[in-house]
Amino acid sequence: MKPLSKNVIVFLVLILMGAALFSGYTLNQQKPEPISLSALVDRVEKGSVASINVAGDQIDIANKDGSASVTHKESGQALSTMLATYGATADQIKAANITVKDTSGTSYFVDAILPTAVTLLIMLGVFWLIMRQMQGANARAMQFGQANAREVAAGKTKVTFKDVAGSKEAKEELQEVVEFLRSPKKFSELGAKLPKGVLLMGRPGTGKTLLARAVAGEADVPFFHMSGSEFVEMFVGVGASRVRDLFARAKKSAPCIVFIDEIDAVGRQRGAGLGGSHDEREQTLNQILVEMDGFDPTLGVIVMAATNRPDVLDPALLRPGRFDRRVVIDLPDINEREAILNIHAAGKPLEKDIDLRRIAERTVGFSGADLSNLLNEAAIRAARRNAKTITQEDVLESVEKVMLGPERRSLVMSPEEKKLTAFHEAGHALAAHALPHADPVHKVSIISRGSAGGYTLKLPSEDRRYRRRAEFVDDLAVTLGGYAAEQQTFGDVTTGASGDLKQATRLAREMVTRYGMSADVGPRTFGESEEMIFLGREIHENRNYSEKAAERIDAEIDRLIHGALETARGIMQARKADLERIAAELLEKETIEKEAFEALLGPKTSKT
Ligand code: ADP
Ligand code: MG
Ligand code: ZN
Repeated sequence: MKPLSKNVIVFLVLILMGAALFSGYTLNQQKPEPISLSALVDRVEKGSVASINVAGDQIDIANKDGSASVTHKESGQALSTMLATYGATADQIKAANITVKDTSGTSYFVDAILPTAVTLLIMLGVFWLIMRQMQGANARAMQFGQANAREVAAGKTKVTFKDVAGSKEAKEELQEVVEFLRSPKKFSELGAKLPKGVLLMGRPGTGKTLLARAVAGEADVPFFHMSGSEFVEMFVGVGASRVRDLFARAKKSAPCIVFIDEIDAVGRQRGAGLGGSHDEREQTLNQILVEMDGFDPTLGVIVMAATNRPDVLDPALLRPGRFDRRVVIDLPDINEREAILNIHAAGKPLEKDIDLRRIAERTVGFSGADLSNLLNEAAIRAARRNAKTITQEDVLESVEKVMLGPERRSLVMSPEEKKLTAFHEAGHALAAHALPHADPVHKVSIISRGSAGGYTLKLPSEDRRYRRRAEFVDDLAVTLGGYAAEQQTFGDVTTGASGDLKQATRLAREMVTRYGMSADVGPRTFGESEEMIFLGREIHENRNYSEKAAERIDAEIDRLIHGALETARGIMQARKADLERIAAELLEKETIEKEAFEALLGPKTSKT
């Protein structure tokens, strides 16, 4: 029940009770007839009075016929004296049975004051309730500007660094923050100032939120969690007032962590937007800056923020004294992936012979969130099979589901299309197998997934940070392998290769304009990518080179692509039999795994 309706019911009950009390009080007695004093004297003289009650100035008369009357006398005068002055005899007065009530006693209180007092109290009560109601409404209106941050009290966060696999460097950096929060005094006594703000940067799902929670858990301090978008409401000014409130609360519970998730929602570069009003965001951002500058660094409030778009953040946020400690969280490498899988496998009934290392090998580029999602999908798959444990196959099958969207077995392919897809994918796979610097083939398939018709899954055998020119050159040839195979087998090409051509062109352009991998054009970059925020995001390229340079770039891209196509054609011609074997196997089995593929063609040509 809502509090309002509850209160209404309380009101009604109170009013009804009051009314019942009151009416009961008056109904119990018949209404006495008011008479004059001389009439009373008459009745006393006639002897028709049974008894008289005097309470203060009020005279209640019980008549012998059973009726009641009432009258009043002057105060300070005794009734008997008064009756005597009117001429009543002593006997008549005696027969009237006069009793005088003590007006200062409790009986008088009960008779005369209680009803009034009760009525007054009830009215006061009702009045008080109404007041409270109105105040409640007021308070709710005021709460609008208050931060609706979720506060996790100290000791309530169970997440610690143990729950975050990998991210070793990030953890080391944050260890300092943990120690500061544990004993801010130790640092402030030495005059050491700790950063007020720590900015966690990393792709979505790399565990930024998790890491911030873990810091609070390790330090055992309260944790205020708020998302950037929560500051921004429909009404201008609300965001700023929420920030003020959030920091006021945090300062009271220092040492503590204020965590602003997805800070790019408010902290975007000011004035970079096209269209629309950014007043609200700007005010909110300004308030964050003011608050961060305002509090004493020895207080023990650490502001943590997370973003996956550090590039769009307002420079003011990154100035010294604000978020000057920045922690980058990378996508996990193979060992970290295995560790993450191990963490999330806990509590899931995995088959004993499951090989998480193998799964980690297959999931290059997966974030922590993807991996946790992967095991969840695998569990769902196992449950749908009515199995009690999760098998390796469940997990491997889910890898592609997480990667490419759900399998679309229902999509019917005509036999010609199937043959075409088989040769196309066989072309990619054969080129990848033949070229020493290309990534080895993990799986070839002609079953469509997501938007891809078929696909060849090539994965690097190790994680790497830098890539060589030779690898790009081989990648280009692999990308064009499908096109070359189609052309050679059917004497024609189809629209199926258009995605490949686009990718090849982009790769070749990047080689020339970003990586300086063309001897002819030389080691410089061309064009400046600039972020324009318009309907989400849009890259706008600033051309900072001449027409002549543009021509040279185009020519160089052409050369790279033609060279790659020649390489691919060469492979298809030289190993026509292999191409046909792969295609035939694909037509029969639809999917070829790494082992089967290597059994078919022999081990991959290794790097030189
Ligand atoms: P972000 O905030 O960077 O987008 P989250 O912290 O919300 O990512 O991560 C989402 C989920 O992914 C976490 O709740 C956790 O289950 C999982 N996860 C991500 N990174 C890790 C990691 N390093 N170790 C363990 N689990 C992780
Ligand atoms: Mg997050
Ligand atoms: Zn292709």
